[in-house]
Amino acid sequence: MIIVLKQDITGKQKDEIKNLLKENGLIIREIKGKEDTVLGAVGVNRMDPRQIELMEGVASVVPISKPYKLASRELKKEDTVVSVGNVKIGGNRVVMMAGPCAVESEKQIMEIAGIVRQAGAVILRGGAFKPRTSPYSFQGLGEEGLKYLRKAGDEFGMPVTTEVVSPRDVRMMADYIDMFQIGARNMQNFELLKEVGKTGMPVLLKRGLSATIEEWLMAAEYLMANGTDQVVLCERGIRTYEKATRNTLDCSAIPVVQKLTHLPVVGDPSHATGMRDLVAPMGLALVAAGASGLIVEVHNHPEKALSDGPQSLLPQQFEKLVRDVQALCPVVGKSLESVPRVMPKTEEGQAVQNELCVAFQGERGAFSELAVRNAFDDVNVLPCRSFHDAFEAVNKGQAKYGVLPIENTLGGTIVDNIDLMTRYPNLTIVGEVQVRVIHDLIVNPGVKKEDIKKVYSHPQGLAQCRDFLERELPYAQQVPFFDTAGAVSHIKETGDMHAAAIAGATAAEYNGMEILAESIETNPRNYTRFFILTREENAATFRSSNTPDRAAVTFTVADKAGMLVEVLDVFKAHEINMKKLESRPIAGKPWQYFFFVEFEIPCEEKFKEVCQEVKGKAEDLNILGYYKSAH
Ligand code: PEP
Ligand code: MN
Repeated sequence: MIIVLKQDITGKQKDEIKNLLKENGLIIREIKGKEDTVLGAVGVNRMDPRQIELMEGVASVVPISKPYKLASRELKKEDTVVSVGNVKIGGNRVVMMAGPCAVESEKQIMEIAGIVRQAGAVILRGGAFKPRTSPYSFQGLGEEGLKYLRKAGDEFGMPVTTEVVSPRDVRMMADYIDMFQIGARNMQNFELLKEVGKTGMPVLLKRGLSATIEEWLMAAEYLMANGTDQVVLCERGIRTYEKATRNTLDCSAIPVVQKLTHLPVVGDPSHATGMRDLVAPMGLALVAAGASGLIVEVHNHPEKALSDGPQSLLPQQFEKLVRDVQALCPVVGKSLESVPRVMPKTEEGQAVQNELCVAFQGERGAFSELAVRNAFDDVNVLPCRSFHDAFEAVNKGQAKYGVLPIENTLGGTIVDNIDLMTRYPNLTIVGEVQVRVIHDLIVNPGVKKEDIKKVYSHPQGLAQCRDFLERELPYAQQVPFFDTAGAVSHIKETGDMHAAAIAGATAAEYNGMEILAESIETNPRNYTRFFILTREENAATFRSSNTPDRAAVTFTVADKAGMLVEVLDVFKAHEINMKKLESRPIAGKPWQYFFFVEFEIPCEEKFKEVCQEVKGKAEDLNILGYYKSAH
């Protein structure tokens, strides 16, 4: 049964309820949802629910209709996100897990781990205990294989998963791995499920060869009833009369299971098909169907593989699959999970903080670098070729923060960065910084105004200094360049004594150039504001020193009259002021749009509550972050 607690329940009242349930032999799970906190109580129930209903602090008691209880959506409405090392499975992420069917040698797993990590895998797989159809086939390297798997995972910064086949190995294996895999043949090995459940560790539970969805969820229930809430389901094809493929992939199981359970579900197109050429199309089908990830077999020499060679992808096929999955992600409202390389650990086991490094787009001395300097004292900067590269650098942990322009007072919104924010759900906005754009006329030392025949700058830079150029350099040719700081380094490199560049003073300083005229922009009220982005896990430390007064969100609305007004009305009712509204096309959904909105907020908690209220009216509401306004 589900015991919904009153919002003002005291700790003492909660303990009394829990004690009574425990005395009656029930297993209790406390689940803090977005709306309510509930206690799930399962087990052989001899209690009269009315006895609980009458207790202080109880709002209501609801029976769970399904035979699986802890796994059911009835008990927990929100999606469970399972943490495997530093990787999260579930929610709006797609996780790529890859590796060989079996660990065959240290060299083999090391090579394949390097290949799959480079291609975009974030979890490494590899069997050490292989449940083979024939007793004469390779049975796996056992504990030795686990050692190699662990070593490869550590070397390449990936958590590892491997199959457990015997209850007697569970304790030993727990020291080597991050997630247990229960194979299809063992899905109903209840003693194994109990032993693995007791570890409380994450488990990838494959669907049995001929298991119904209900039997599969009952197996998950075994794991959960014994102590783990970290279960990932895996559809890997079922046994049918069809012989053209190794198994028959049940793609529809993905959305069906998602309705029935809060647990994430991934797909294994390798075992589902048994044939290399079918793995990529079926992998994409699984992601399109809503899978939270794929587990794929990859081998660098599949012709020599000791098991499942014919279904193992070649390295380049896996690389292509990852790229295709990444392209498909926005269509299903998800993003490909990527994680930073593991940082070295201190003696206390804490990850060592890398020196503070901040990514920006542009060359050294760009206005974005000035924004970084304004926001942080004493940092290393990481100049990136494109906005996308700067997002990637933060997402992969090469830089702790990224400083990206979002709007210029003359040029308007920098829409590319709004779009990129929707593609990186792991990143969140933690701050804002504003820079006044002051353009200077910059030359190689010794160049005089009369010598100048060409002026290089970003087209915006040239446009913003039009009056000065017309007045002072009417005969100079204006040459558009892809960024202002780049224009400065270009004239420096060519040593051109007849050229000038328009850029900020930092670019002149960085390149050791001379400033001939300062602040030559037509309109001095020229500002760019930037967002400071970081991975979610770093957000709290940054924000705690800057109480946020703004929030940025994205959402979509149904294609009906007045839907946007209805959403905005909720904010109005709570006197939450809107500062900016943009609509942007949704990638992969022609002629459909999402809204990007910035609000002035009283505090994070209150804003989150209002967002809850909006959820019925807005679709896919996503809070991009909270920050303290810089203007
Ligand atoms: C495996 O992952 O190598 C494996 C044996 O899978 P399944 O249990 O799905 O057959
Ligand atoms: Mn296999």
